[in-house]
Amino acid sequence: MGSHHGEVLRILRDDGPQSRASLARRGKLSATTLTHVTAQLLRDGVVAESEFVDTTGIGRPGQAIKLIPDAHHVVGIHLGAGLVQLVIADLAASIKASASFEFSVRDTAPDDVIARTAEALATLRSEAGDPHLLGAGVAVPGPVNVEQRSLLASINTGWRNLPLAKLFETQINLPVILEHNVTSMALAEVRYGIGRRVPAVLYVYLRTGLGAGLVVDGIPFRPGGHGAVELGHIQISRDGPLCSCGNHGCLESYVNEGVLMRSIGLKGQAPSNLFEQLEATDAFGPTLDRLTDSLAIAINILTPDLIVLGGHLSQAPESLFSHLRANLPPRVMPHMRDVLRIDRTGFGPLAGAIGGAVVALDHFFYSGVRH
Ligand SMILES: [Zn+2]
Repeated sequence: MGSHHGEVLRILRDDGPQSRASLARRGKLSATTLTHVTAQLLRDGVVAESEFVDTTGIGRPGQAIKLIPDAHHVVGIHLGAGLVQLVIADLAASIKASASFEFSVRDTAPDDVIARTAEALATLRSEAGDPHLLGAGVAVPGPVNVEQRSLLASINTGWRNLPLAKLFETQINLPVILEHNVTSMALAEVRYGIGRRVPAVLYVYLRTGLGAGLVVDGIPFRPGGHGAVELGHIQISRDGPLCSCGNHGCLESYVNEGVLMRSIGLKGQAPSNLFEQLEATDAFGPTLDRLTDSLAIAINILTPDLIVLGGHLSQAPESLFSHLRANLPPRVMPHMRDVLRIDRTGFGPLAGAIGGAVVALDHFFYSGVRH
């Protein structure tokens, strides 16, 4: 029964208000089933009747069903290396309240990070007027074991096999779902951002490390139930610097926040315009070349229609985008040259927390399991 509810909710999310006839046709539901489903959703207060105007101008105005975005909320948490961001978001993934804090990866145990996150969430809930929360999605900095509900390994924090879902549930008293952080960001683009209706979206995120996430036909790409797209660990030079993964010469060993900061003589917290500052130095060209080389490999293997750049890359100058748009197509298979698009995320610095919220919405609401 829940799957019918989920189907109706997803149609309303993706295409706005619909007549009952349209919902039945598109959801492949009988009139009886649709009546049952909409009655329950109306009772739950997650949809409402509204006037529907046929945009073709042929039909007469009639009653339509629309989603009520404010009916429920979810929590999105991005657990990054040294940075936690939280949002409370509605059913349309609009942010109602947000918070963040930094922590020292070296000196802070995971339990302490989770306790601080719970404290920050308690404050955020009261700031947001204590809305009803369905659950929390936590975007974590490494691949996830779905069955164990754990973070398998995070190179930049050193955390391994952590049952994070259970640990968070104990502290925040909400059901929790985990997802790899960059995959969460890719999912947010597919559901609510520039990746809507795009078959394959590859997200590339640069902060402490260089991560990637792929969503294909609306589903996170997680081979074997635990994989991630390790773009940052494509080896581009056998004799390159030692990478945090133990290999030598990975893309991430050349293109990460720390290395880029050092190459332009910066210390401390990374500036938001890191790539703008990099553009004025000799380090910019080699960085672009390494990114281009690695992305060309990823495109030939994964065939994304859209590459979304996030983190520091989202604030890179236009010259980085024009370089990639000019130099990537000749390096990939001919059929990919015409379809490939490269753009920056529109979700800004909170993309990871929004990603967590979108994972929570998928799991706790649009799956239809609640109804
Ligand atoms: Zn590596």
